[in-house]
Amino acid sequence: MPVDYHIHTKMCGHAVGELEEYVAAARQKGLREIGIADHIPMYFLPVGERDLSIAMKEEELPVYVQRVEEVQKKFSPYLIKLGLEADYIPGKEKELAALLRKYDFDYILGSIHFLDEWGFDNPDRIAGYEKRDLDELYELYFKTLGRAAASGLFDIMAHPDLIKKFGFRPDRDITGLYEQAVKTIAQSGVCIEVNTAGLRVPAGEIYPQTGFLEICHNYQVPVSLGSDAHRPELVGADFDKAVDLLKAIGYREIVTFSKRNKNFYPI
Ligand code: ZN
Ligand code: FE
Ligand code: FE
Ligand code: ZN
Repeated sequence: MPVDYHIHTKMCGHAVGELEEYVAAARQKGLREIGIADHIPMYFLPVGERDLSIAMKEEELPVYVQRVEEVQKKFSPYLIKLGLEADYIPGKEKELAALLRKYDFDYILGSIHFLDEWGFDNPDRIAGYEKRDLDELYELYFKTLGRAAASGLFDIMAHPDLIKKFGFRPDRDITGLYEQAVKTIAQSGVCIEVNTAGLRVPAGEIYPQTGFLEICHNYQVPVSLGSDAHRPELVGADFDKAVDLLKAIGYREIVTFSKRNKNFYPI
């Protein structure tokens, strides 16, 4: 088994378990390397409006970095990378860049969890889908994904078709939207994540969908692997399915990062 690059910690306010338990679970499952990528503080909102059940406080970010460095030392030579899952909010690129500059991350996952200030992947805000035109929503989502990749702020686009999470899908064929987004991702030299959390939500399939992944393969976009574990037992969850899918499409390696430089493991 290769690597799990999308692991949360209880610092985000909605995950459980000690960091050491996540590491122990990874080693037990035979993962060769892991990356901790907890949610970035909600830098795009005024301090008083930040939801601490979504992400840590800004003053906790140095503590997070320190905690990961501690387990790196404790479990050395087992490889534990310092990552971060960072929201992309159009127009807030400077604020994000300033925050990312402060620490020596191995990689940054870029995520779109908000569209027009609507947290569309939040179960408490699911009613928002009723008010929207799904064609327009998907178009906005994939345009924003391309824009995020082109921003140069991220190494890996996480759960690239997260908009399908609750199973709201447009009737029309959206291959064109995929194609446009992937083209920009490829041109920007950004990787995409194969994330198994999609299997555990109403969408019921890996992020991204097979069709999206095939286009990524055509454009030679490297892929990383992540469980999006918010509890230790989910580390490496369903990776057999993810690796089977990747192999069926033609992928032969998984990307890893050290200080934001790429490396590859064969699968
Ligand atoms: Zn989370
Ligand atoms: Fe996410
Ligand atoms: Fe996550
Ligand atoms: Zn995530």
